[in-house]
Parts: sequence; C-alpha cells; structure tokens
Amino acid sequence: MKQRKIPLRKCVACQQMMPKKELIRVVKTPNDELLIDLTGKKAGRGAYLCGKLSCFKLAKKSRALDRALKSSVSPDIYDALEQDFIKVEDEFIAGKDAVDDEQE
Ligand SMILES: [Zn+2]
Repeated sequence: MKQRKIPLRKCVACQQMMPKKELIRVVKTPNDELLIDLTGKKAGRGAYLCGKLSCFKLAKKSRALDRALKSSVSPDIYDALEQDFIKVEDEFIAGKDAVDDEQE
C-alpha cells in the first residue's frame, strides 16, 4: 500500500515542520496587505505559523514574518495581525477538528 504524502510546511516562528492544515497561513497580497488566510488559497507570498497564539507572539518577537515575507512588517501590522489571529484561532481549531491525537 502506498501512503499518500502529507504536505508539510514549516512554522516560521518555531521552525517545526507540520502538516499544512495544522498551520495558519499569513499572506502578503500583491497590494502589500498582510492578511490571515484560512483558506490557504489567496494570492501572494505566504508564511505559515502554528495555529497557536504563542507562535504568533514568538514570530512577532523575532520578526519572523519580516524574514519569511522578505519585507519589513511594522509593529502596528504585527499588532493588527495578532488581533486577527486571536479571532480566527477558534474557527481554525474548529475547522481541523478531525484529528486530535497529539501526544504530549
Ligand atoms: Zn510554531
């Protein structure tokens, strides 16, 4: 039996490789807007973060999004994204409900 490969992406904050659906995509649109993209389909350069606020905070602290998106991201934008991140976190967690077998 061949096993289908799960696409992995790296969280820009903690550098962990994770299945795409475990990650939240932040996209820089062609209009230079930074948005959280739960669909994963928006056009633009994307960066992935674990669906955890702690990873967003880490990214903010280390300016990981600047590096991942190859552009400077102002603290205001980080703050605005953080608010959005908090808003989508529940929706994101609800959306991936199927697997909940993380071992700790
Ligand atoms: Zn992470």
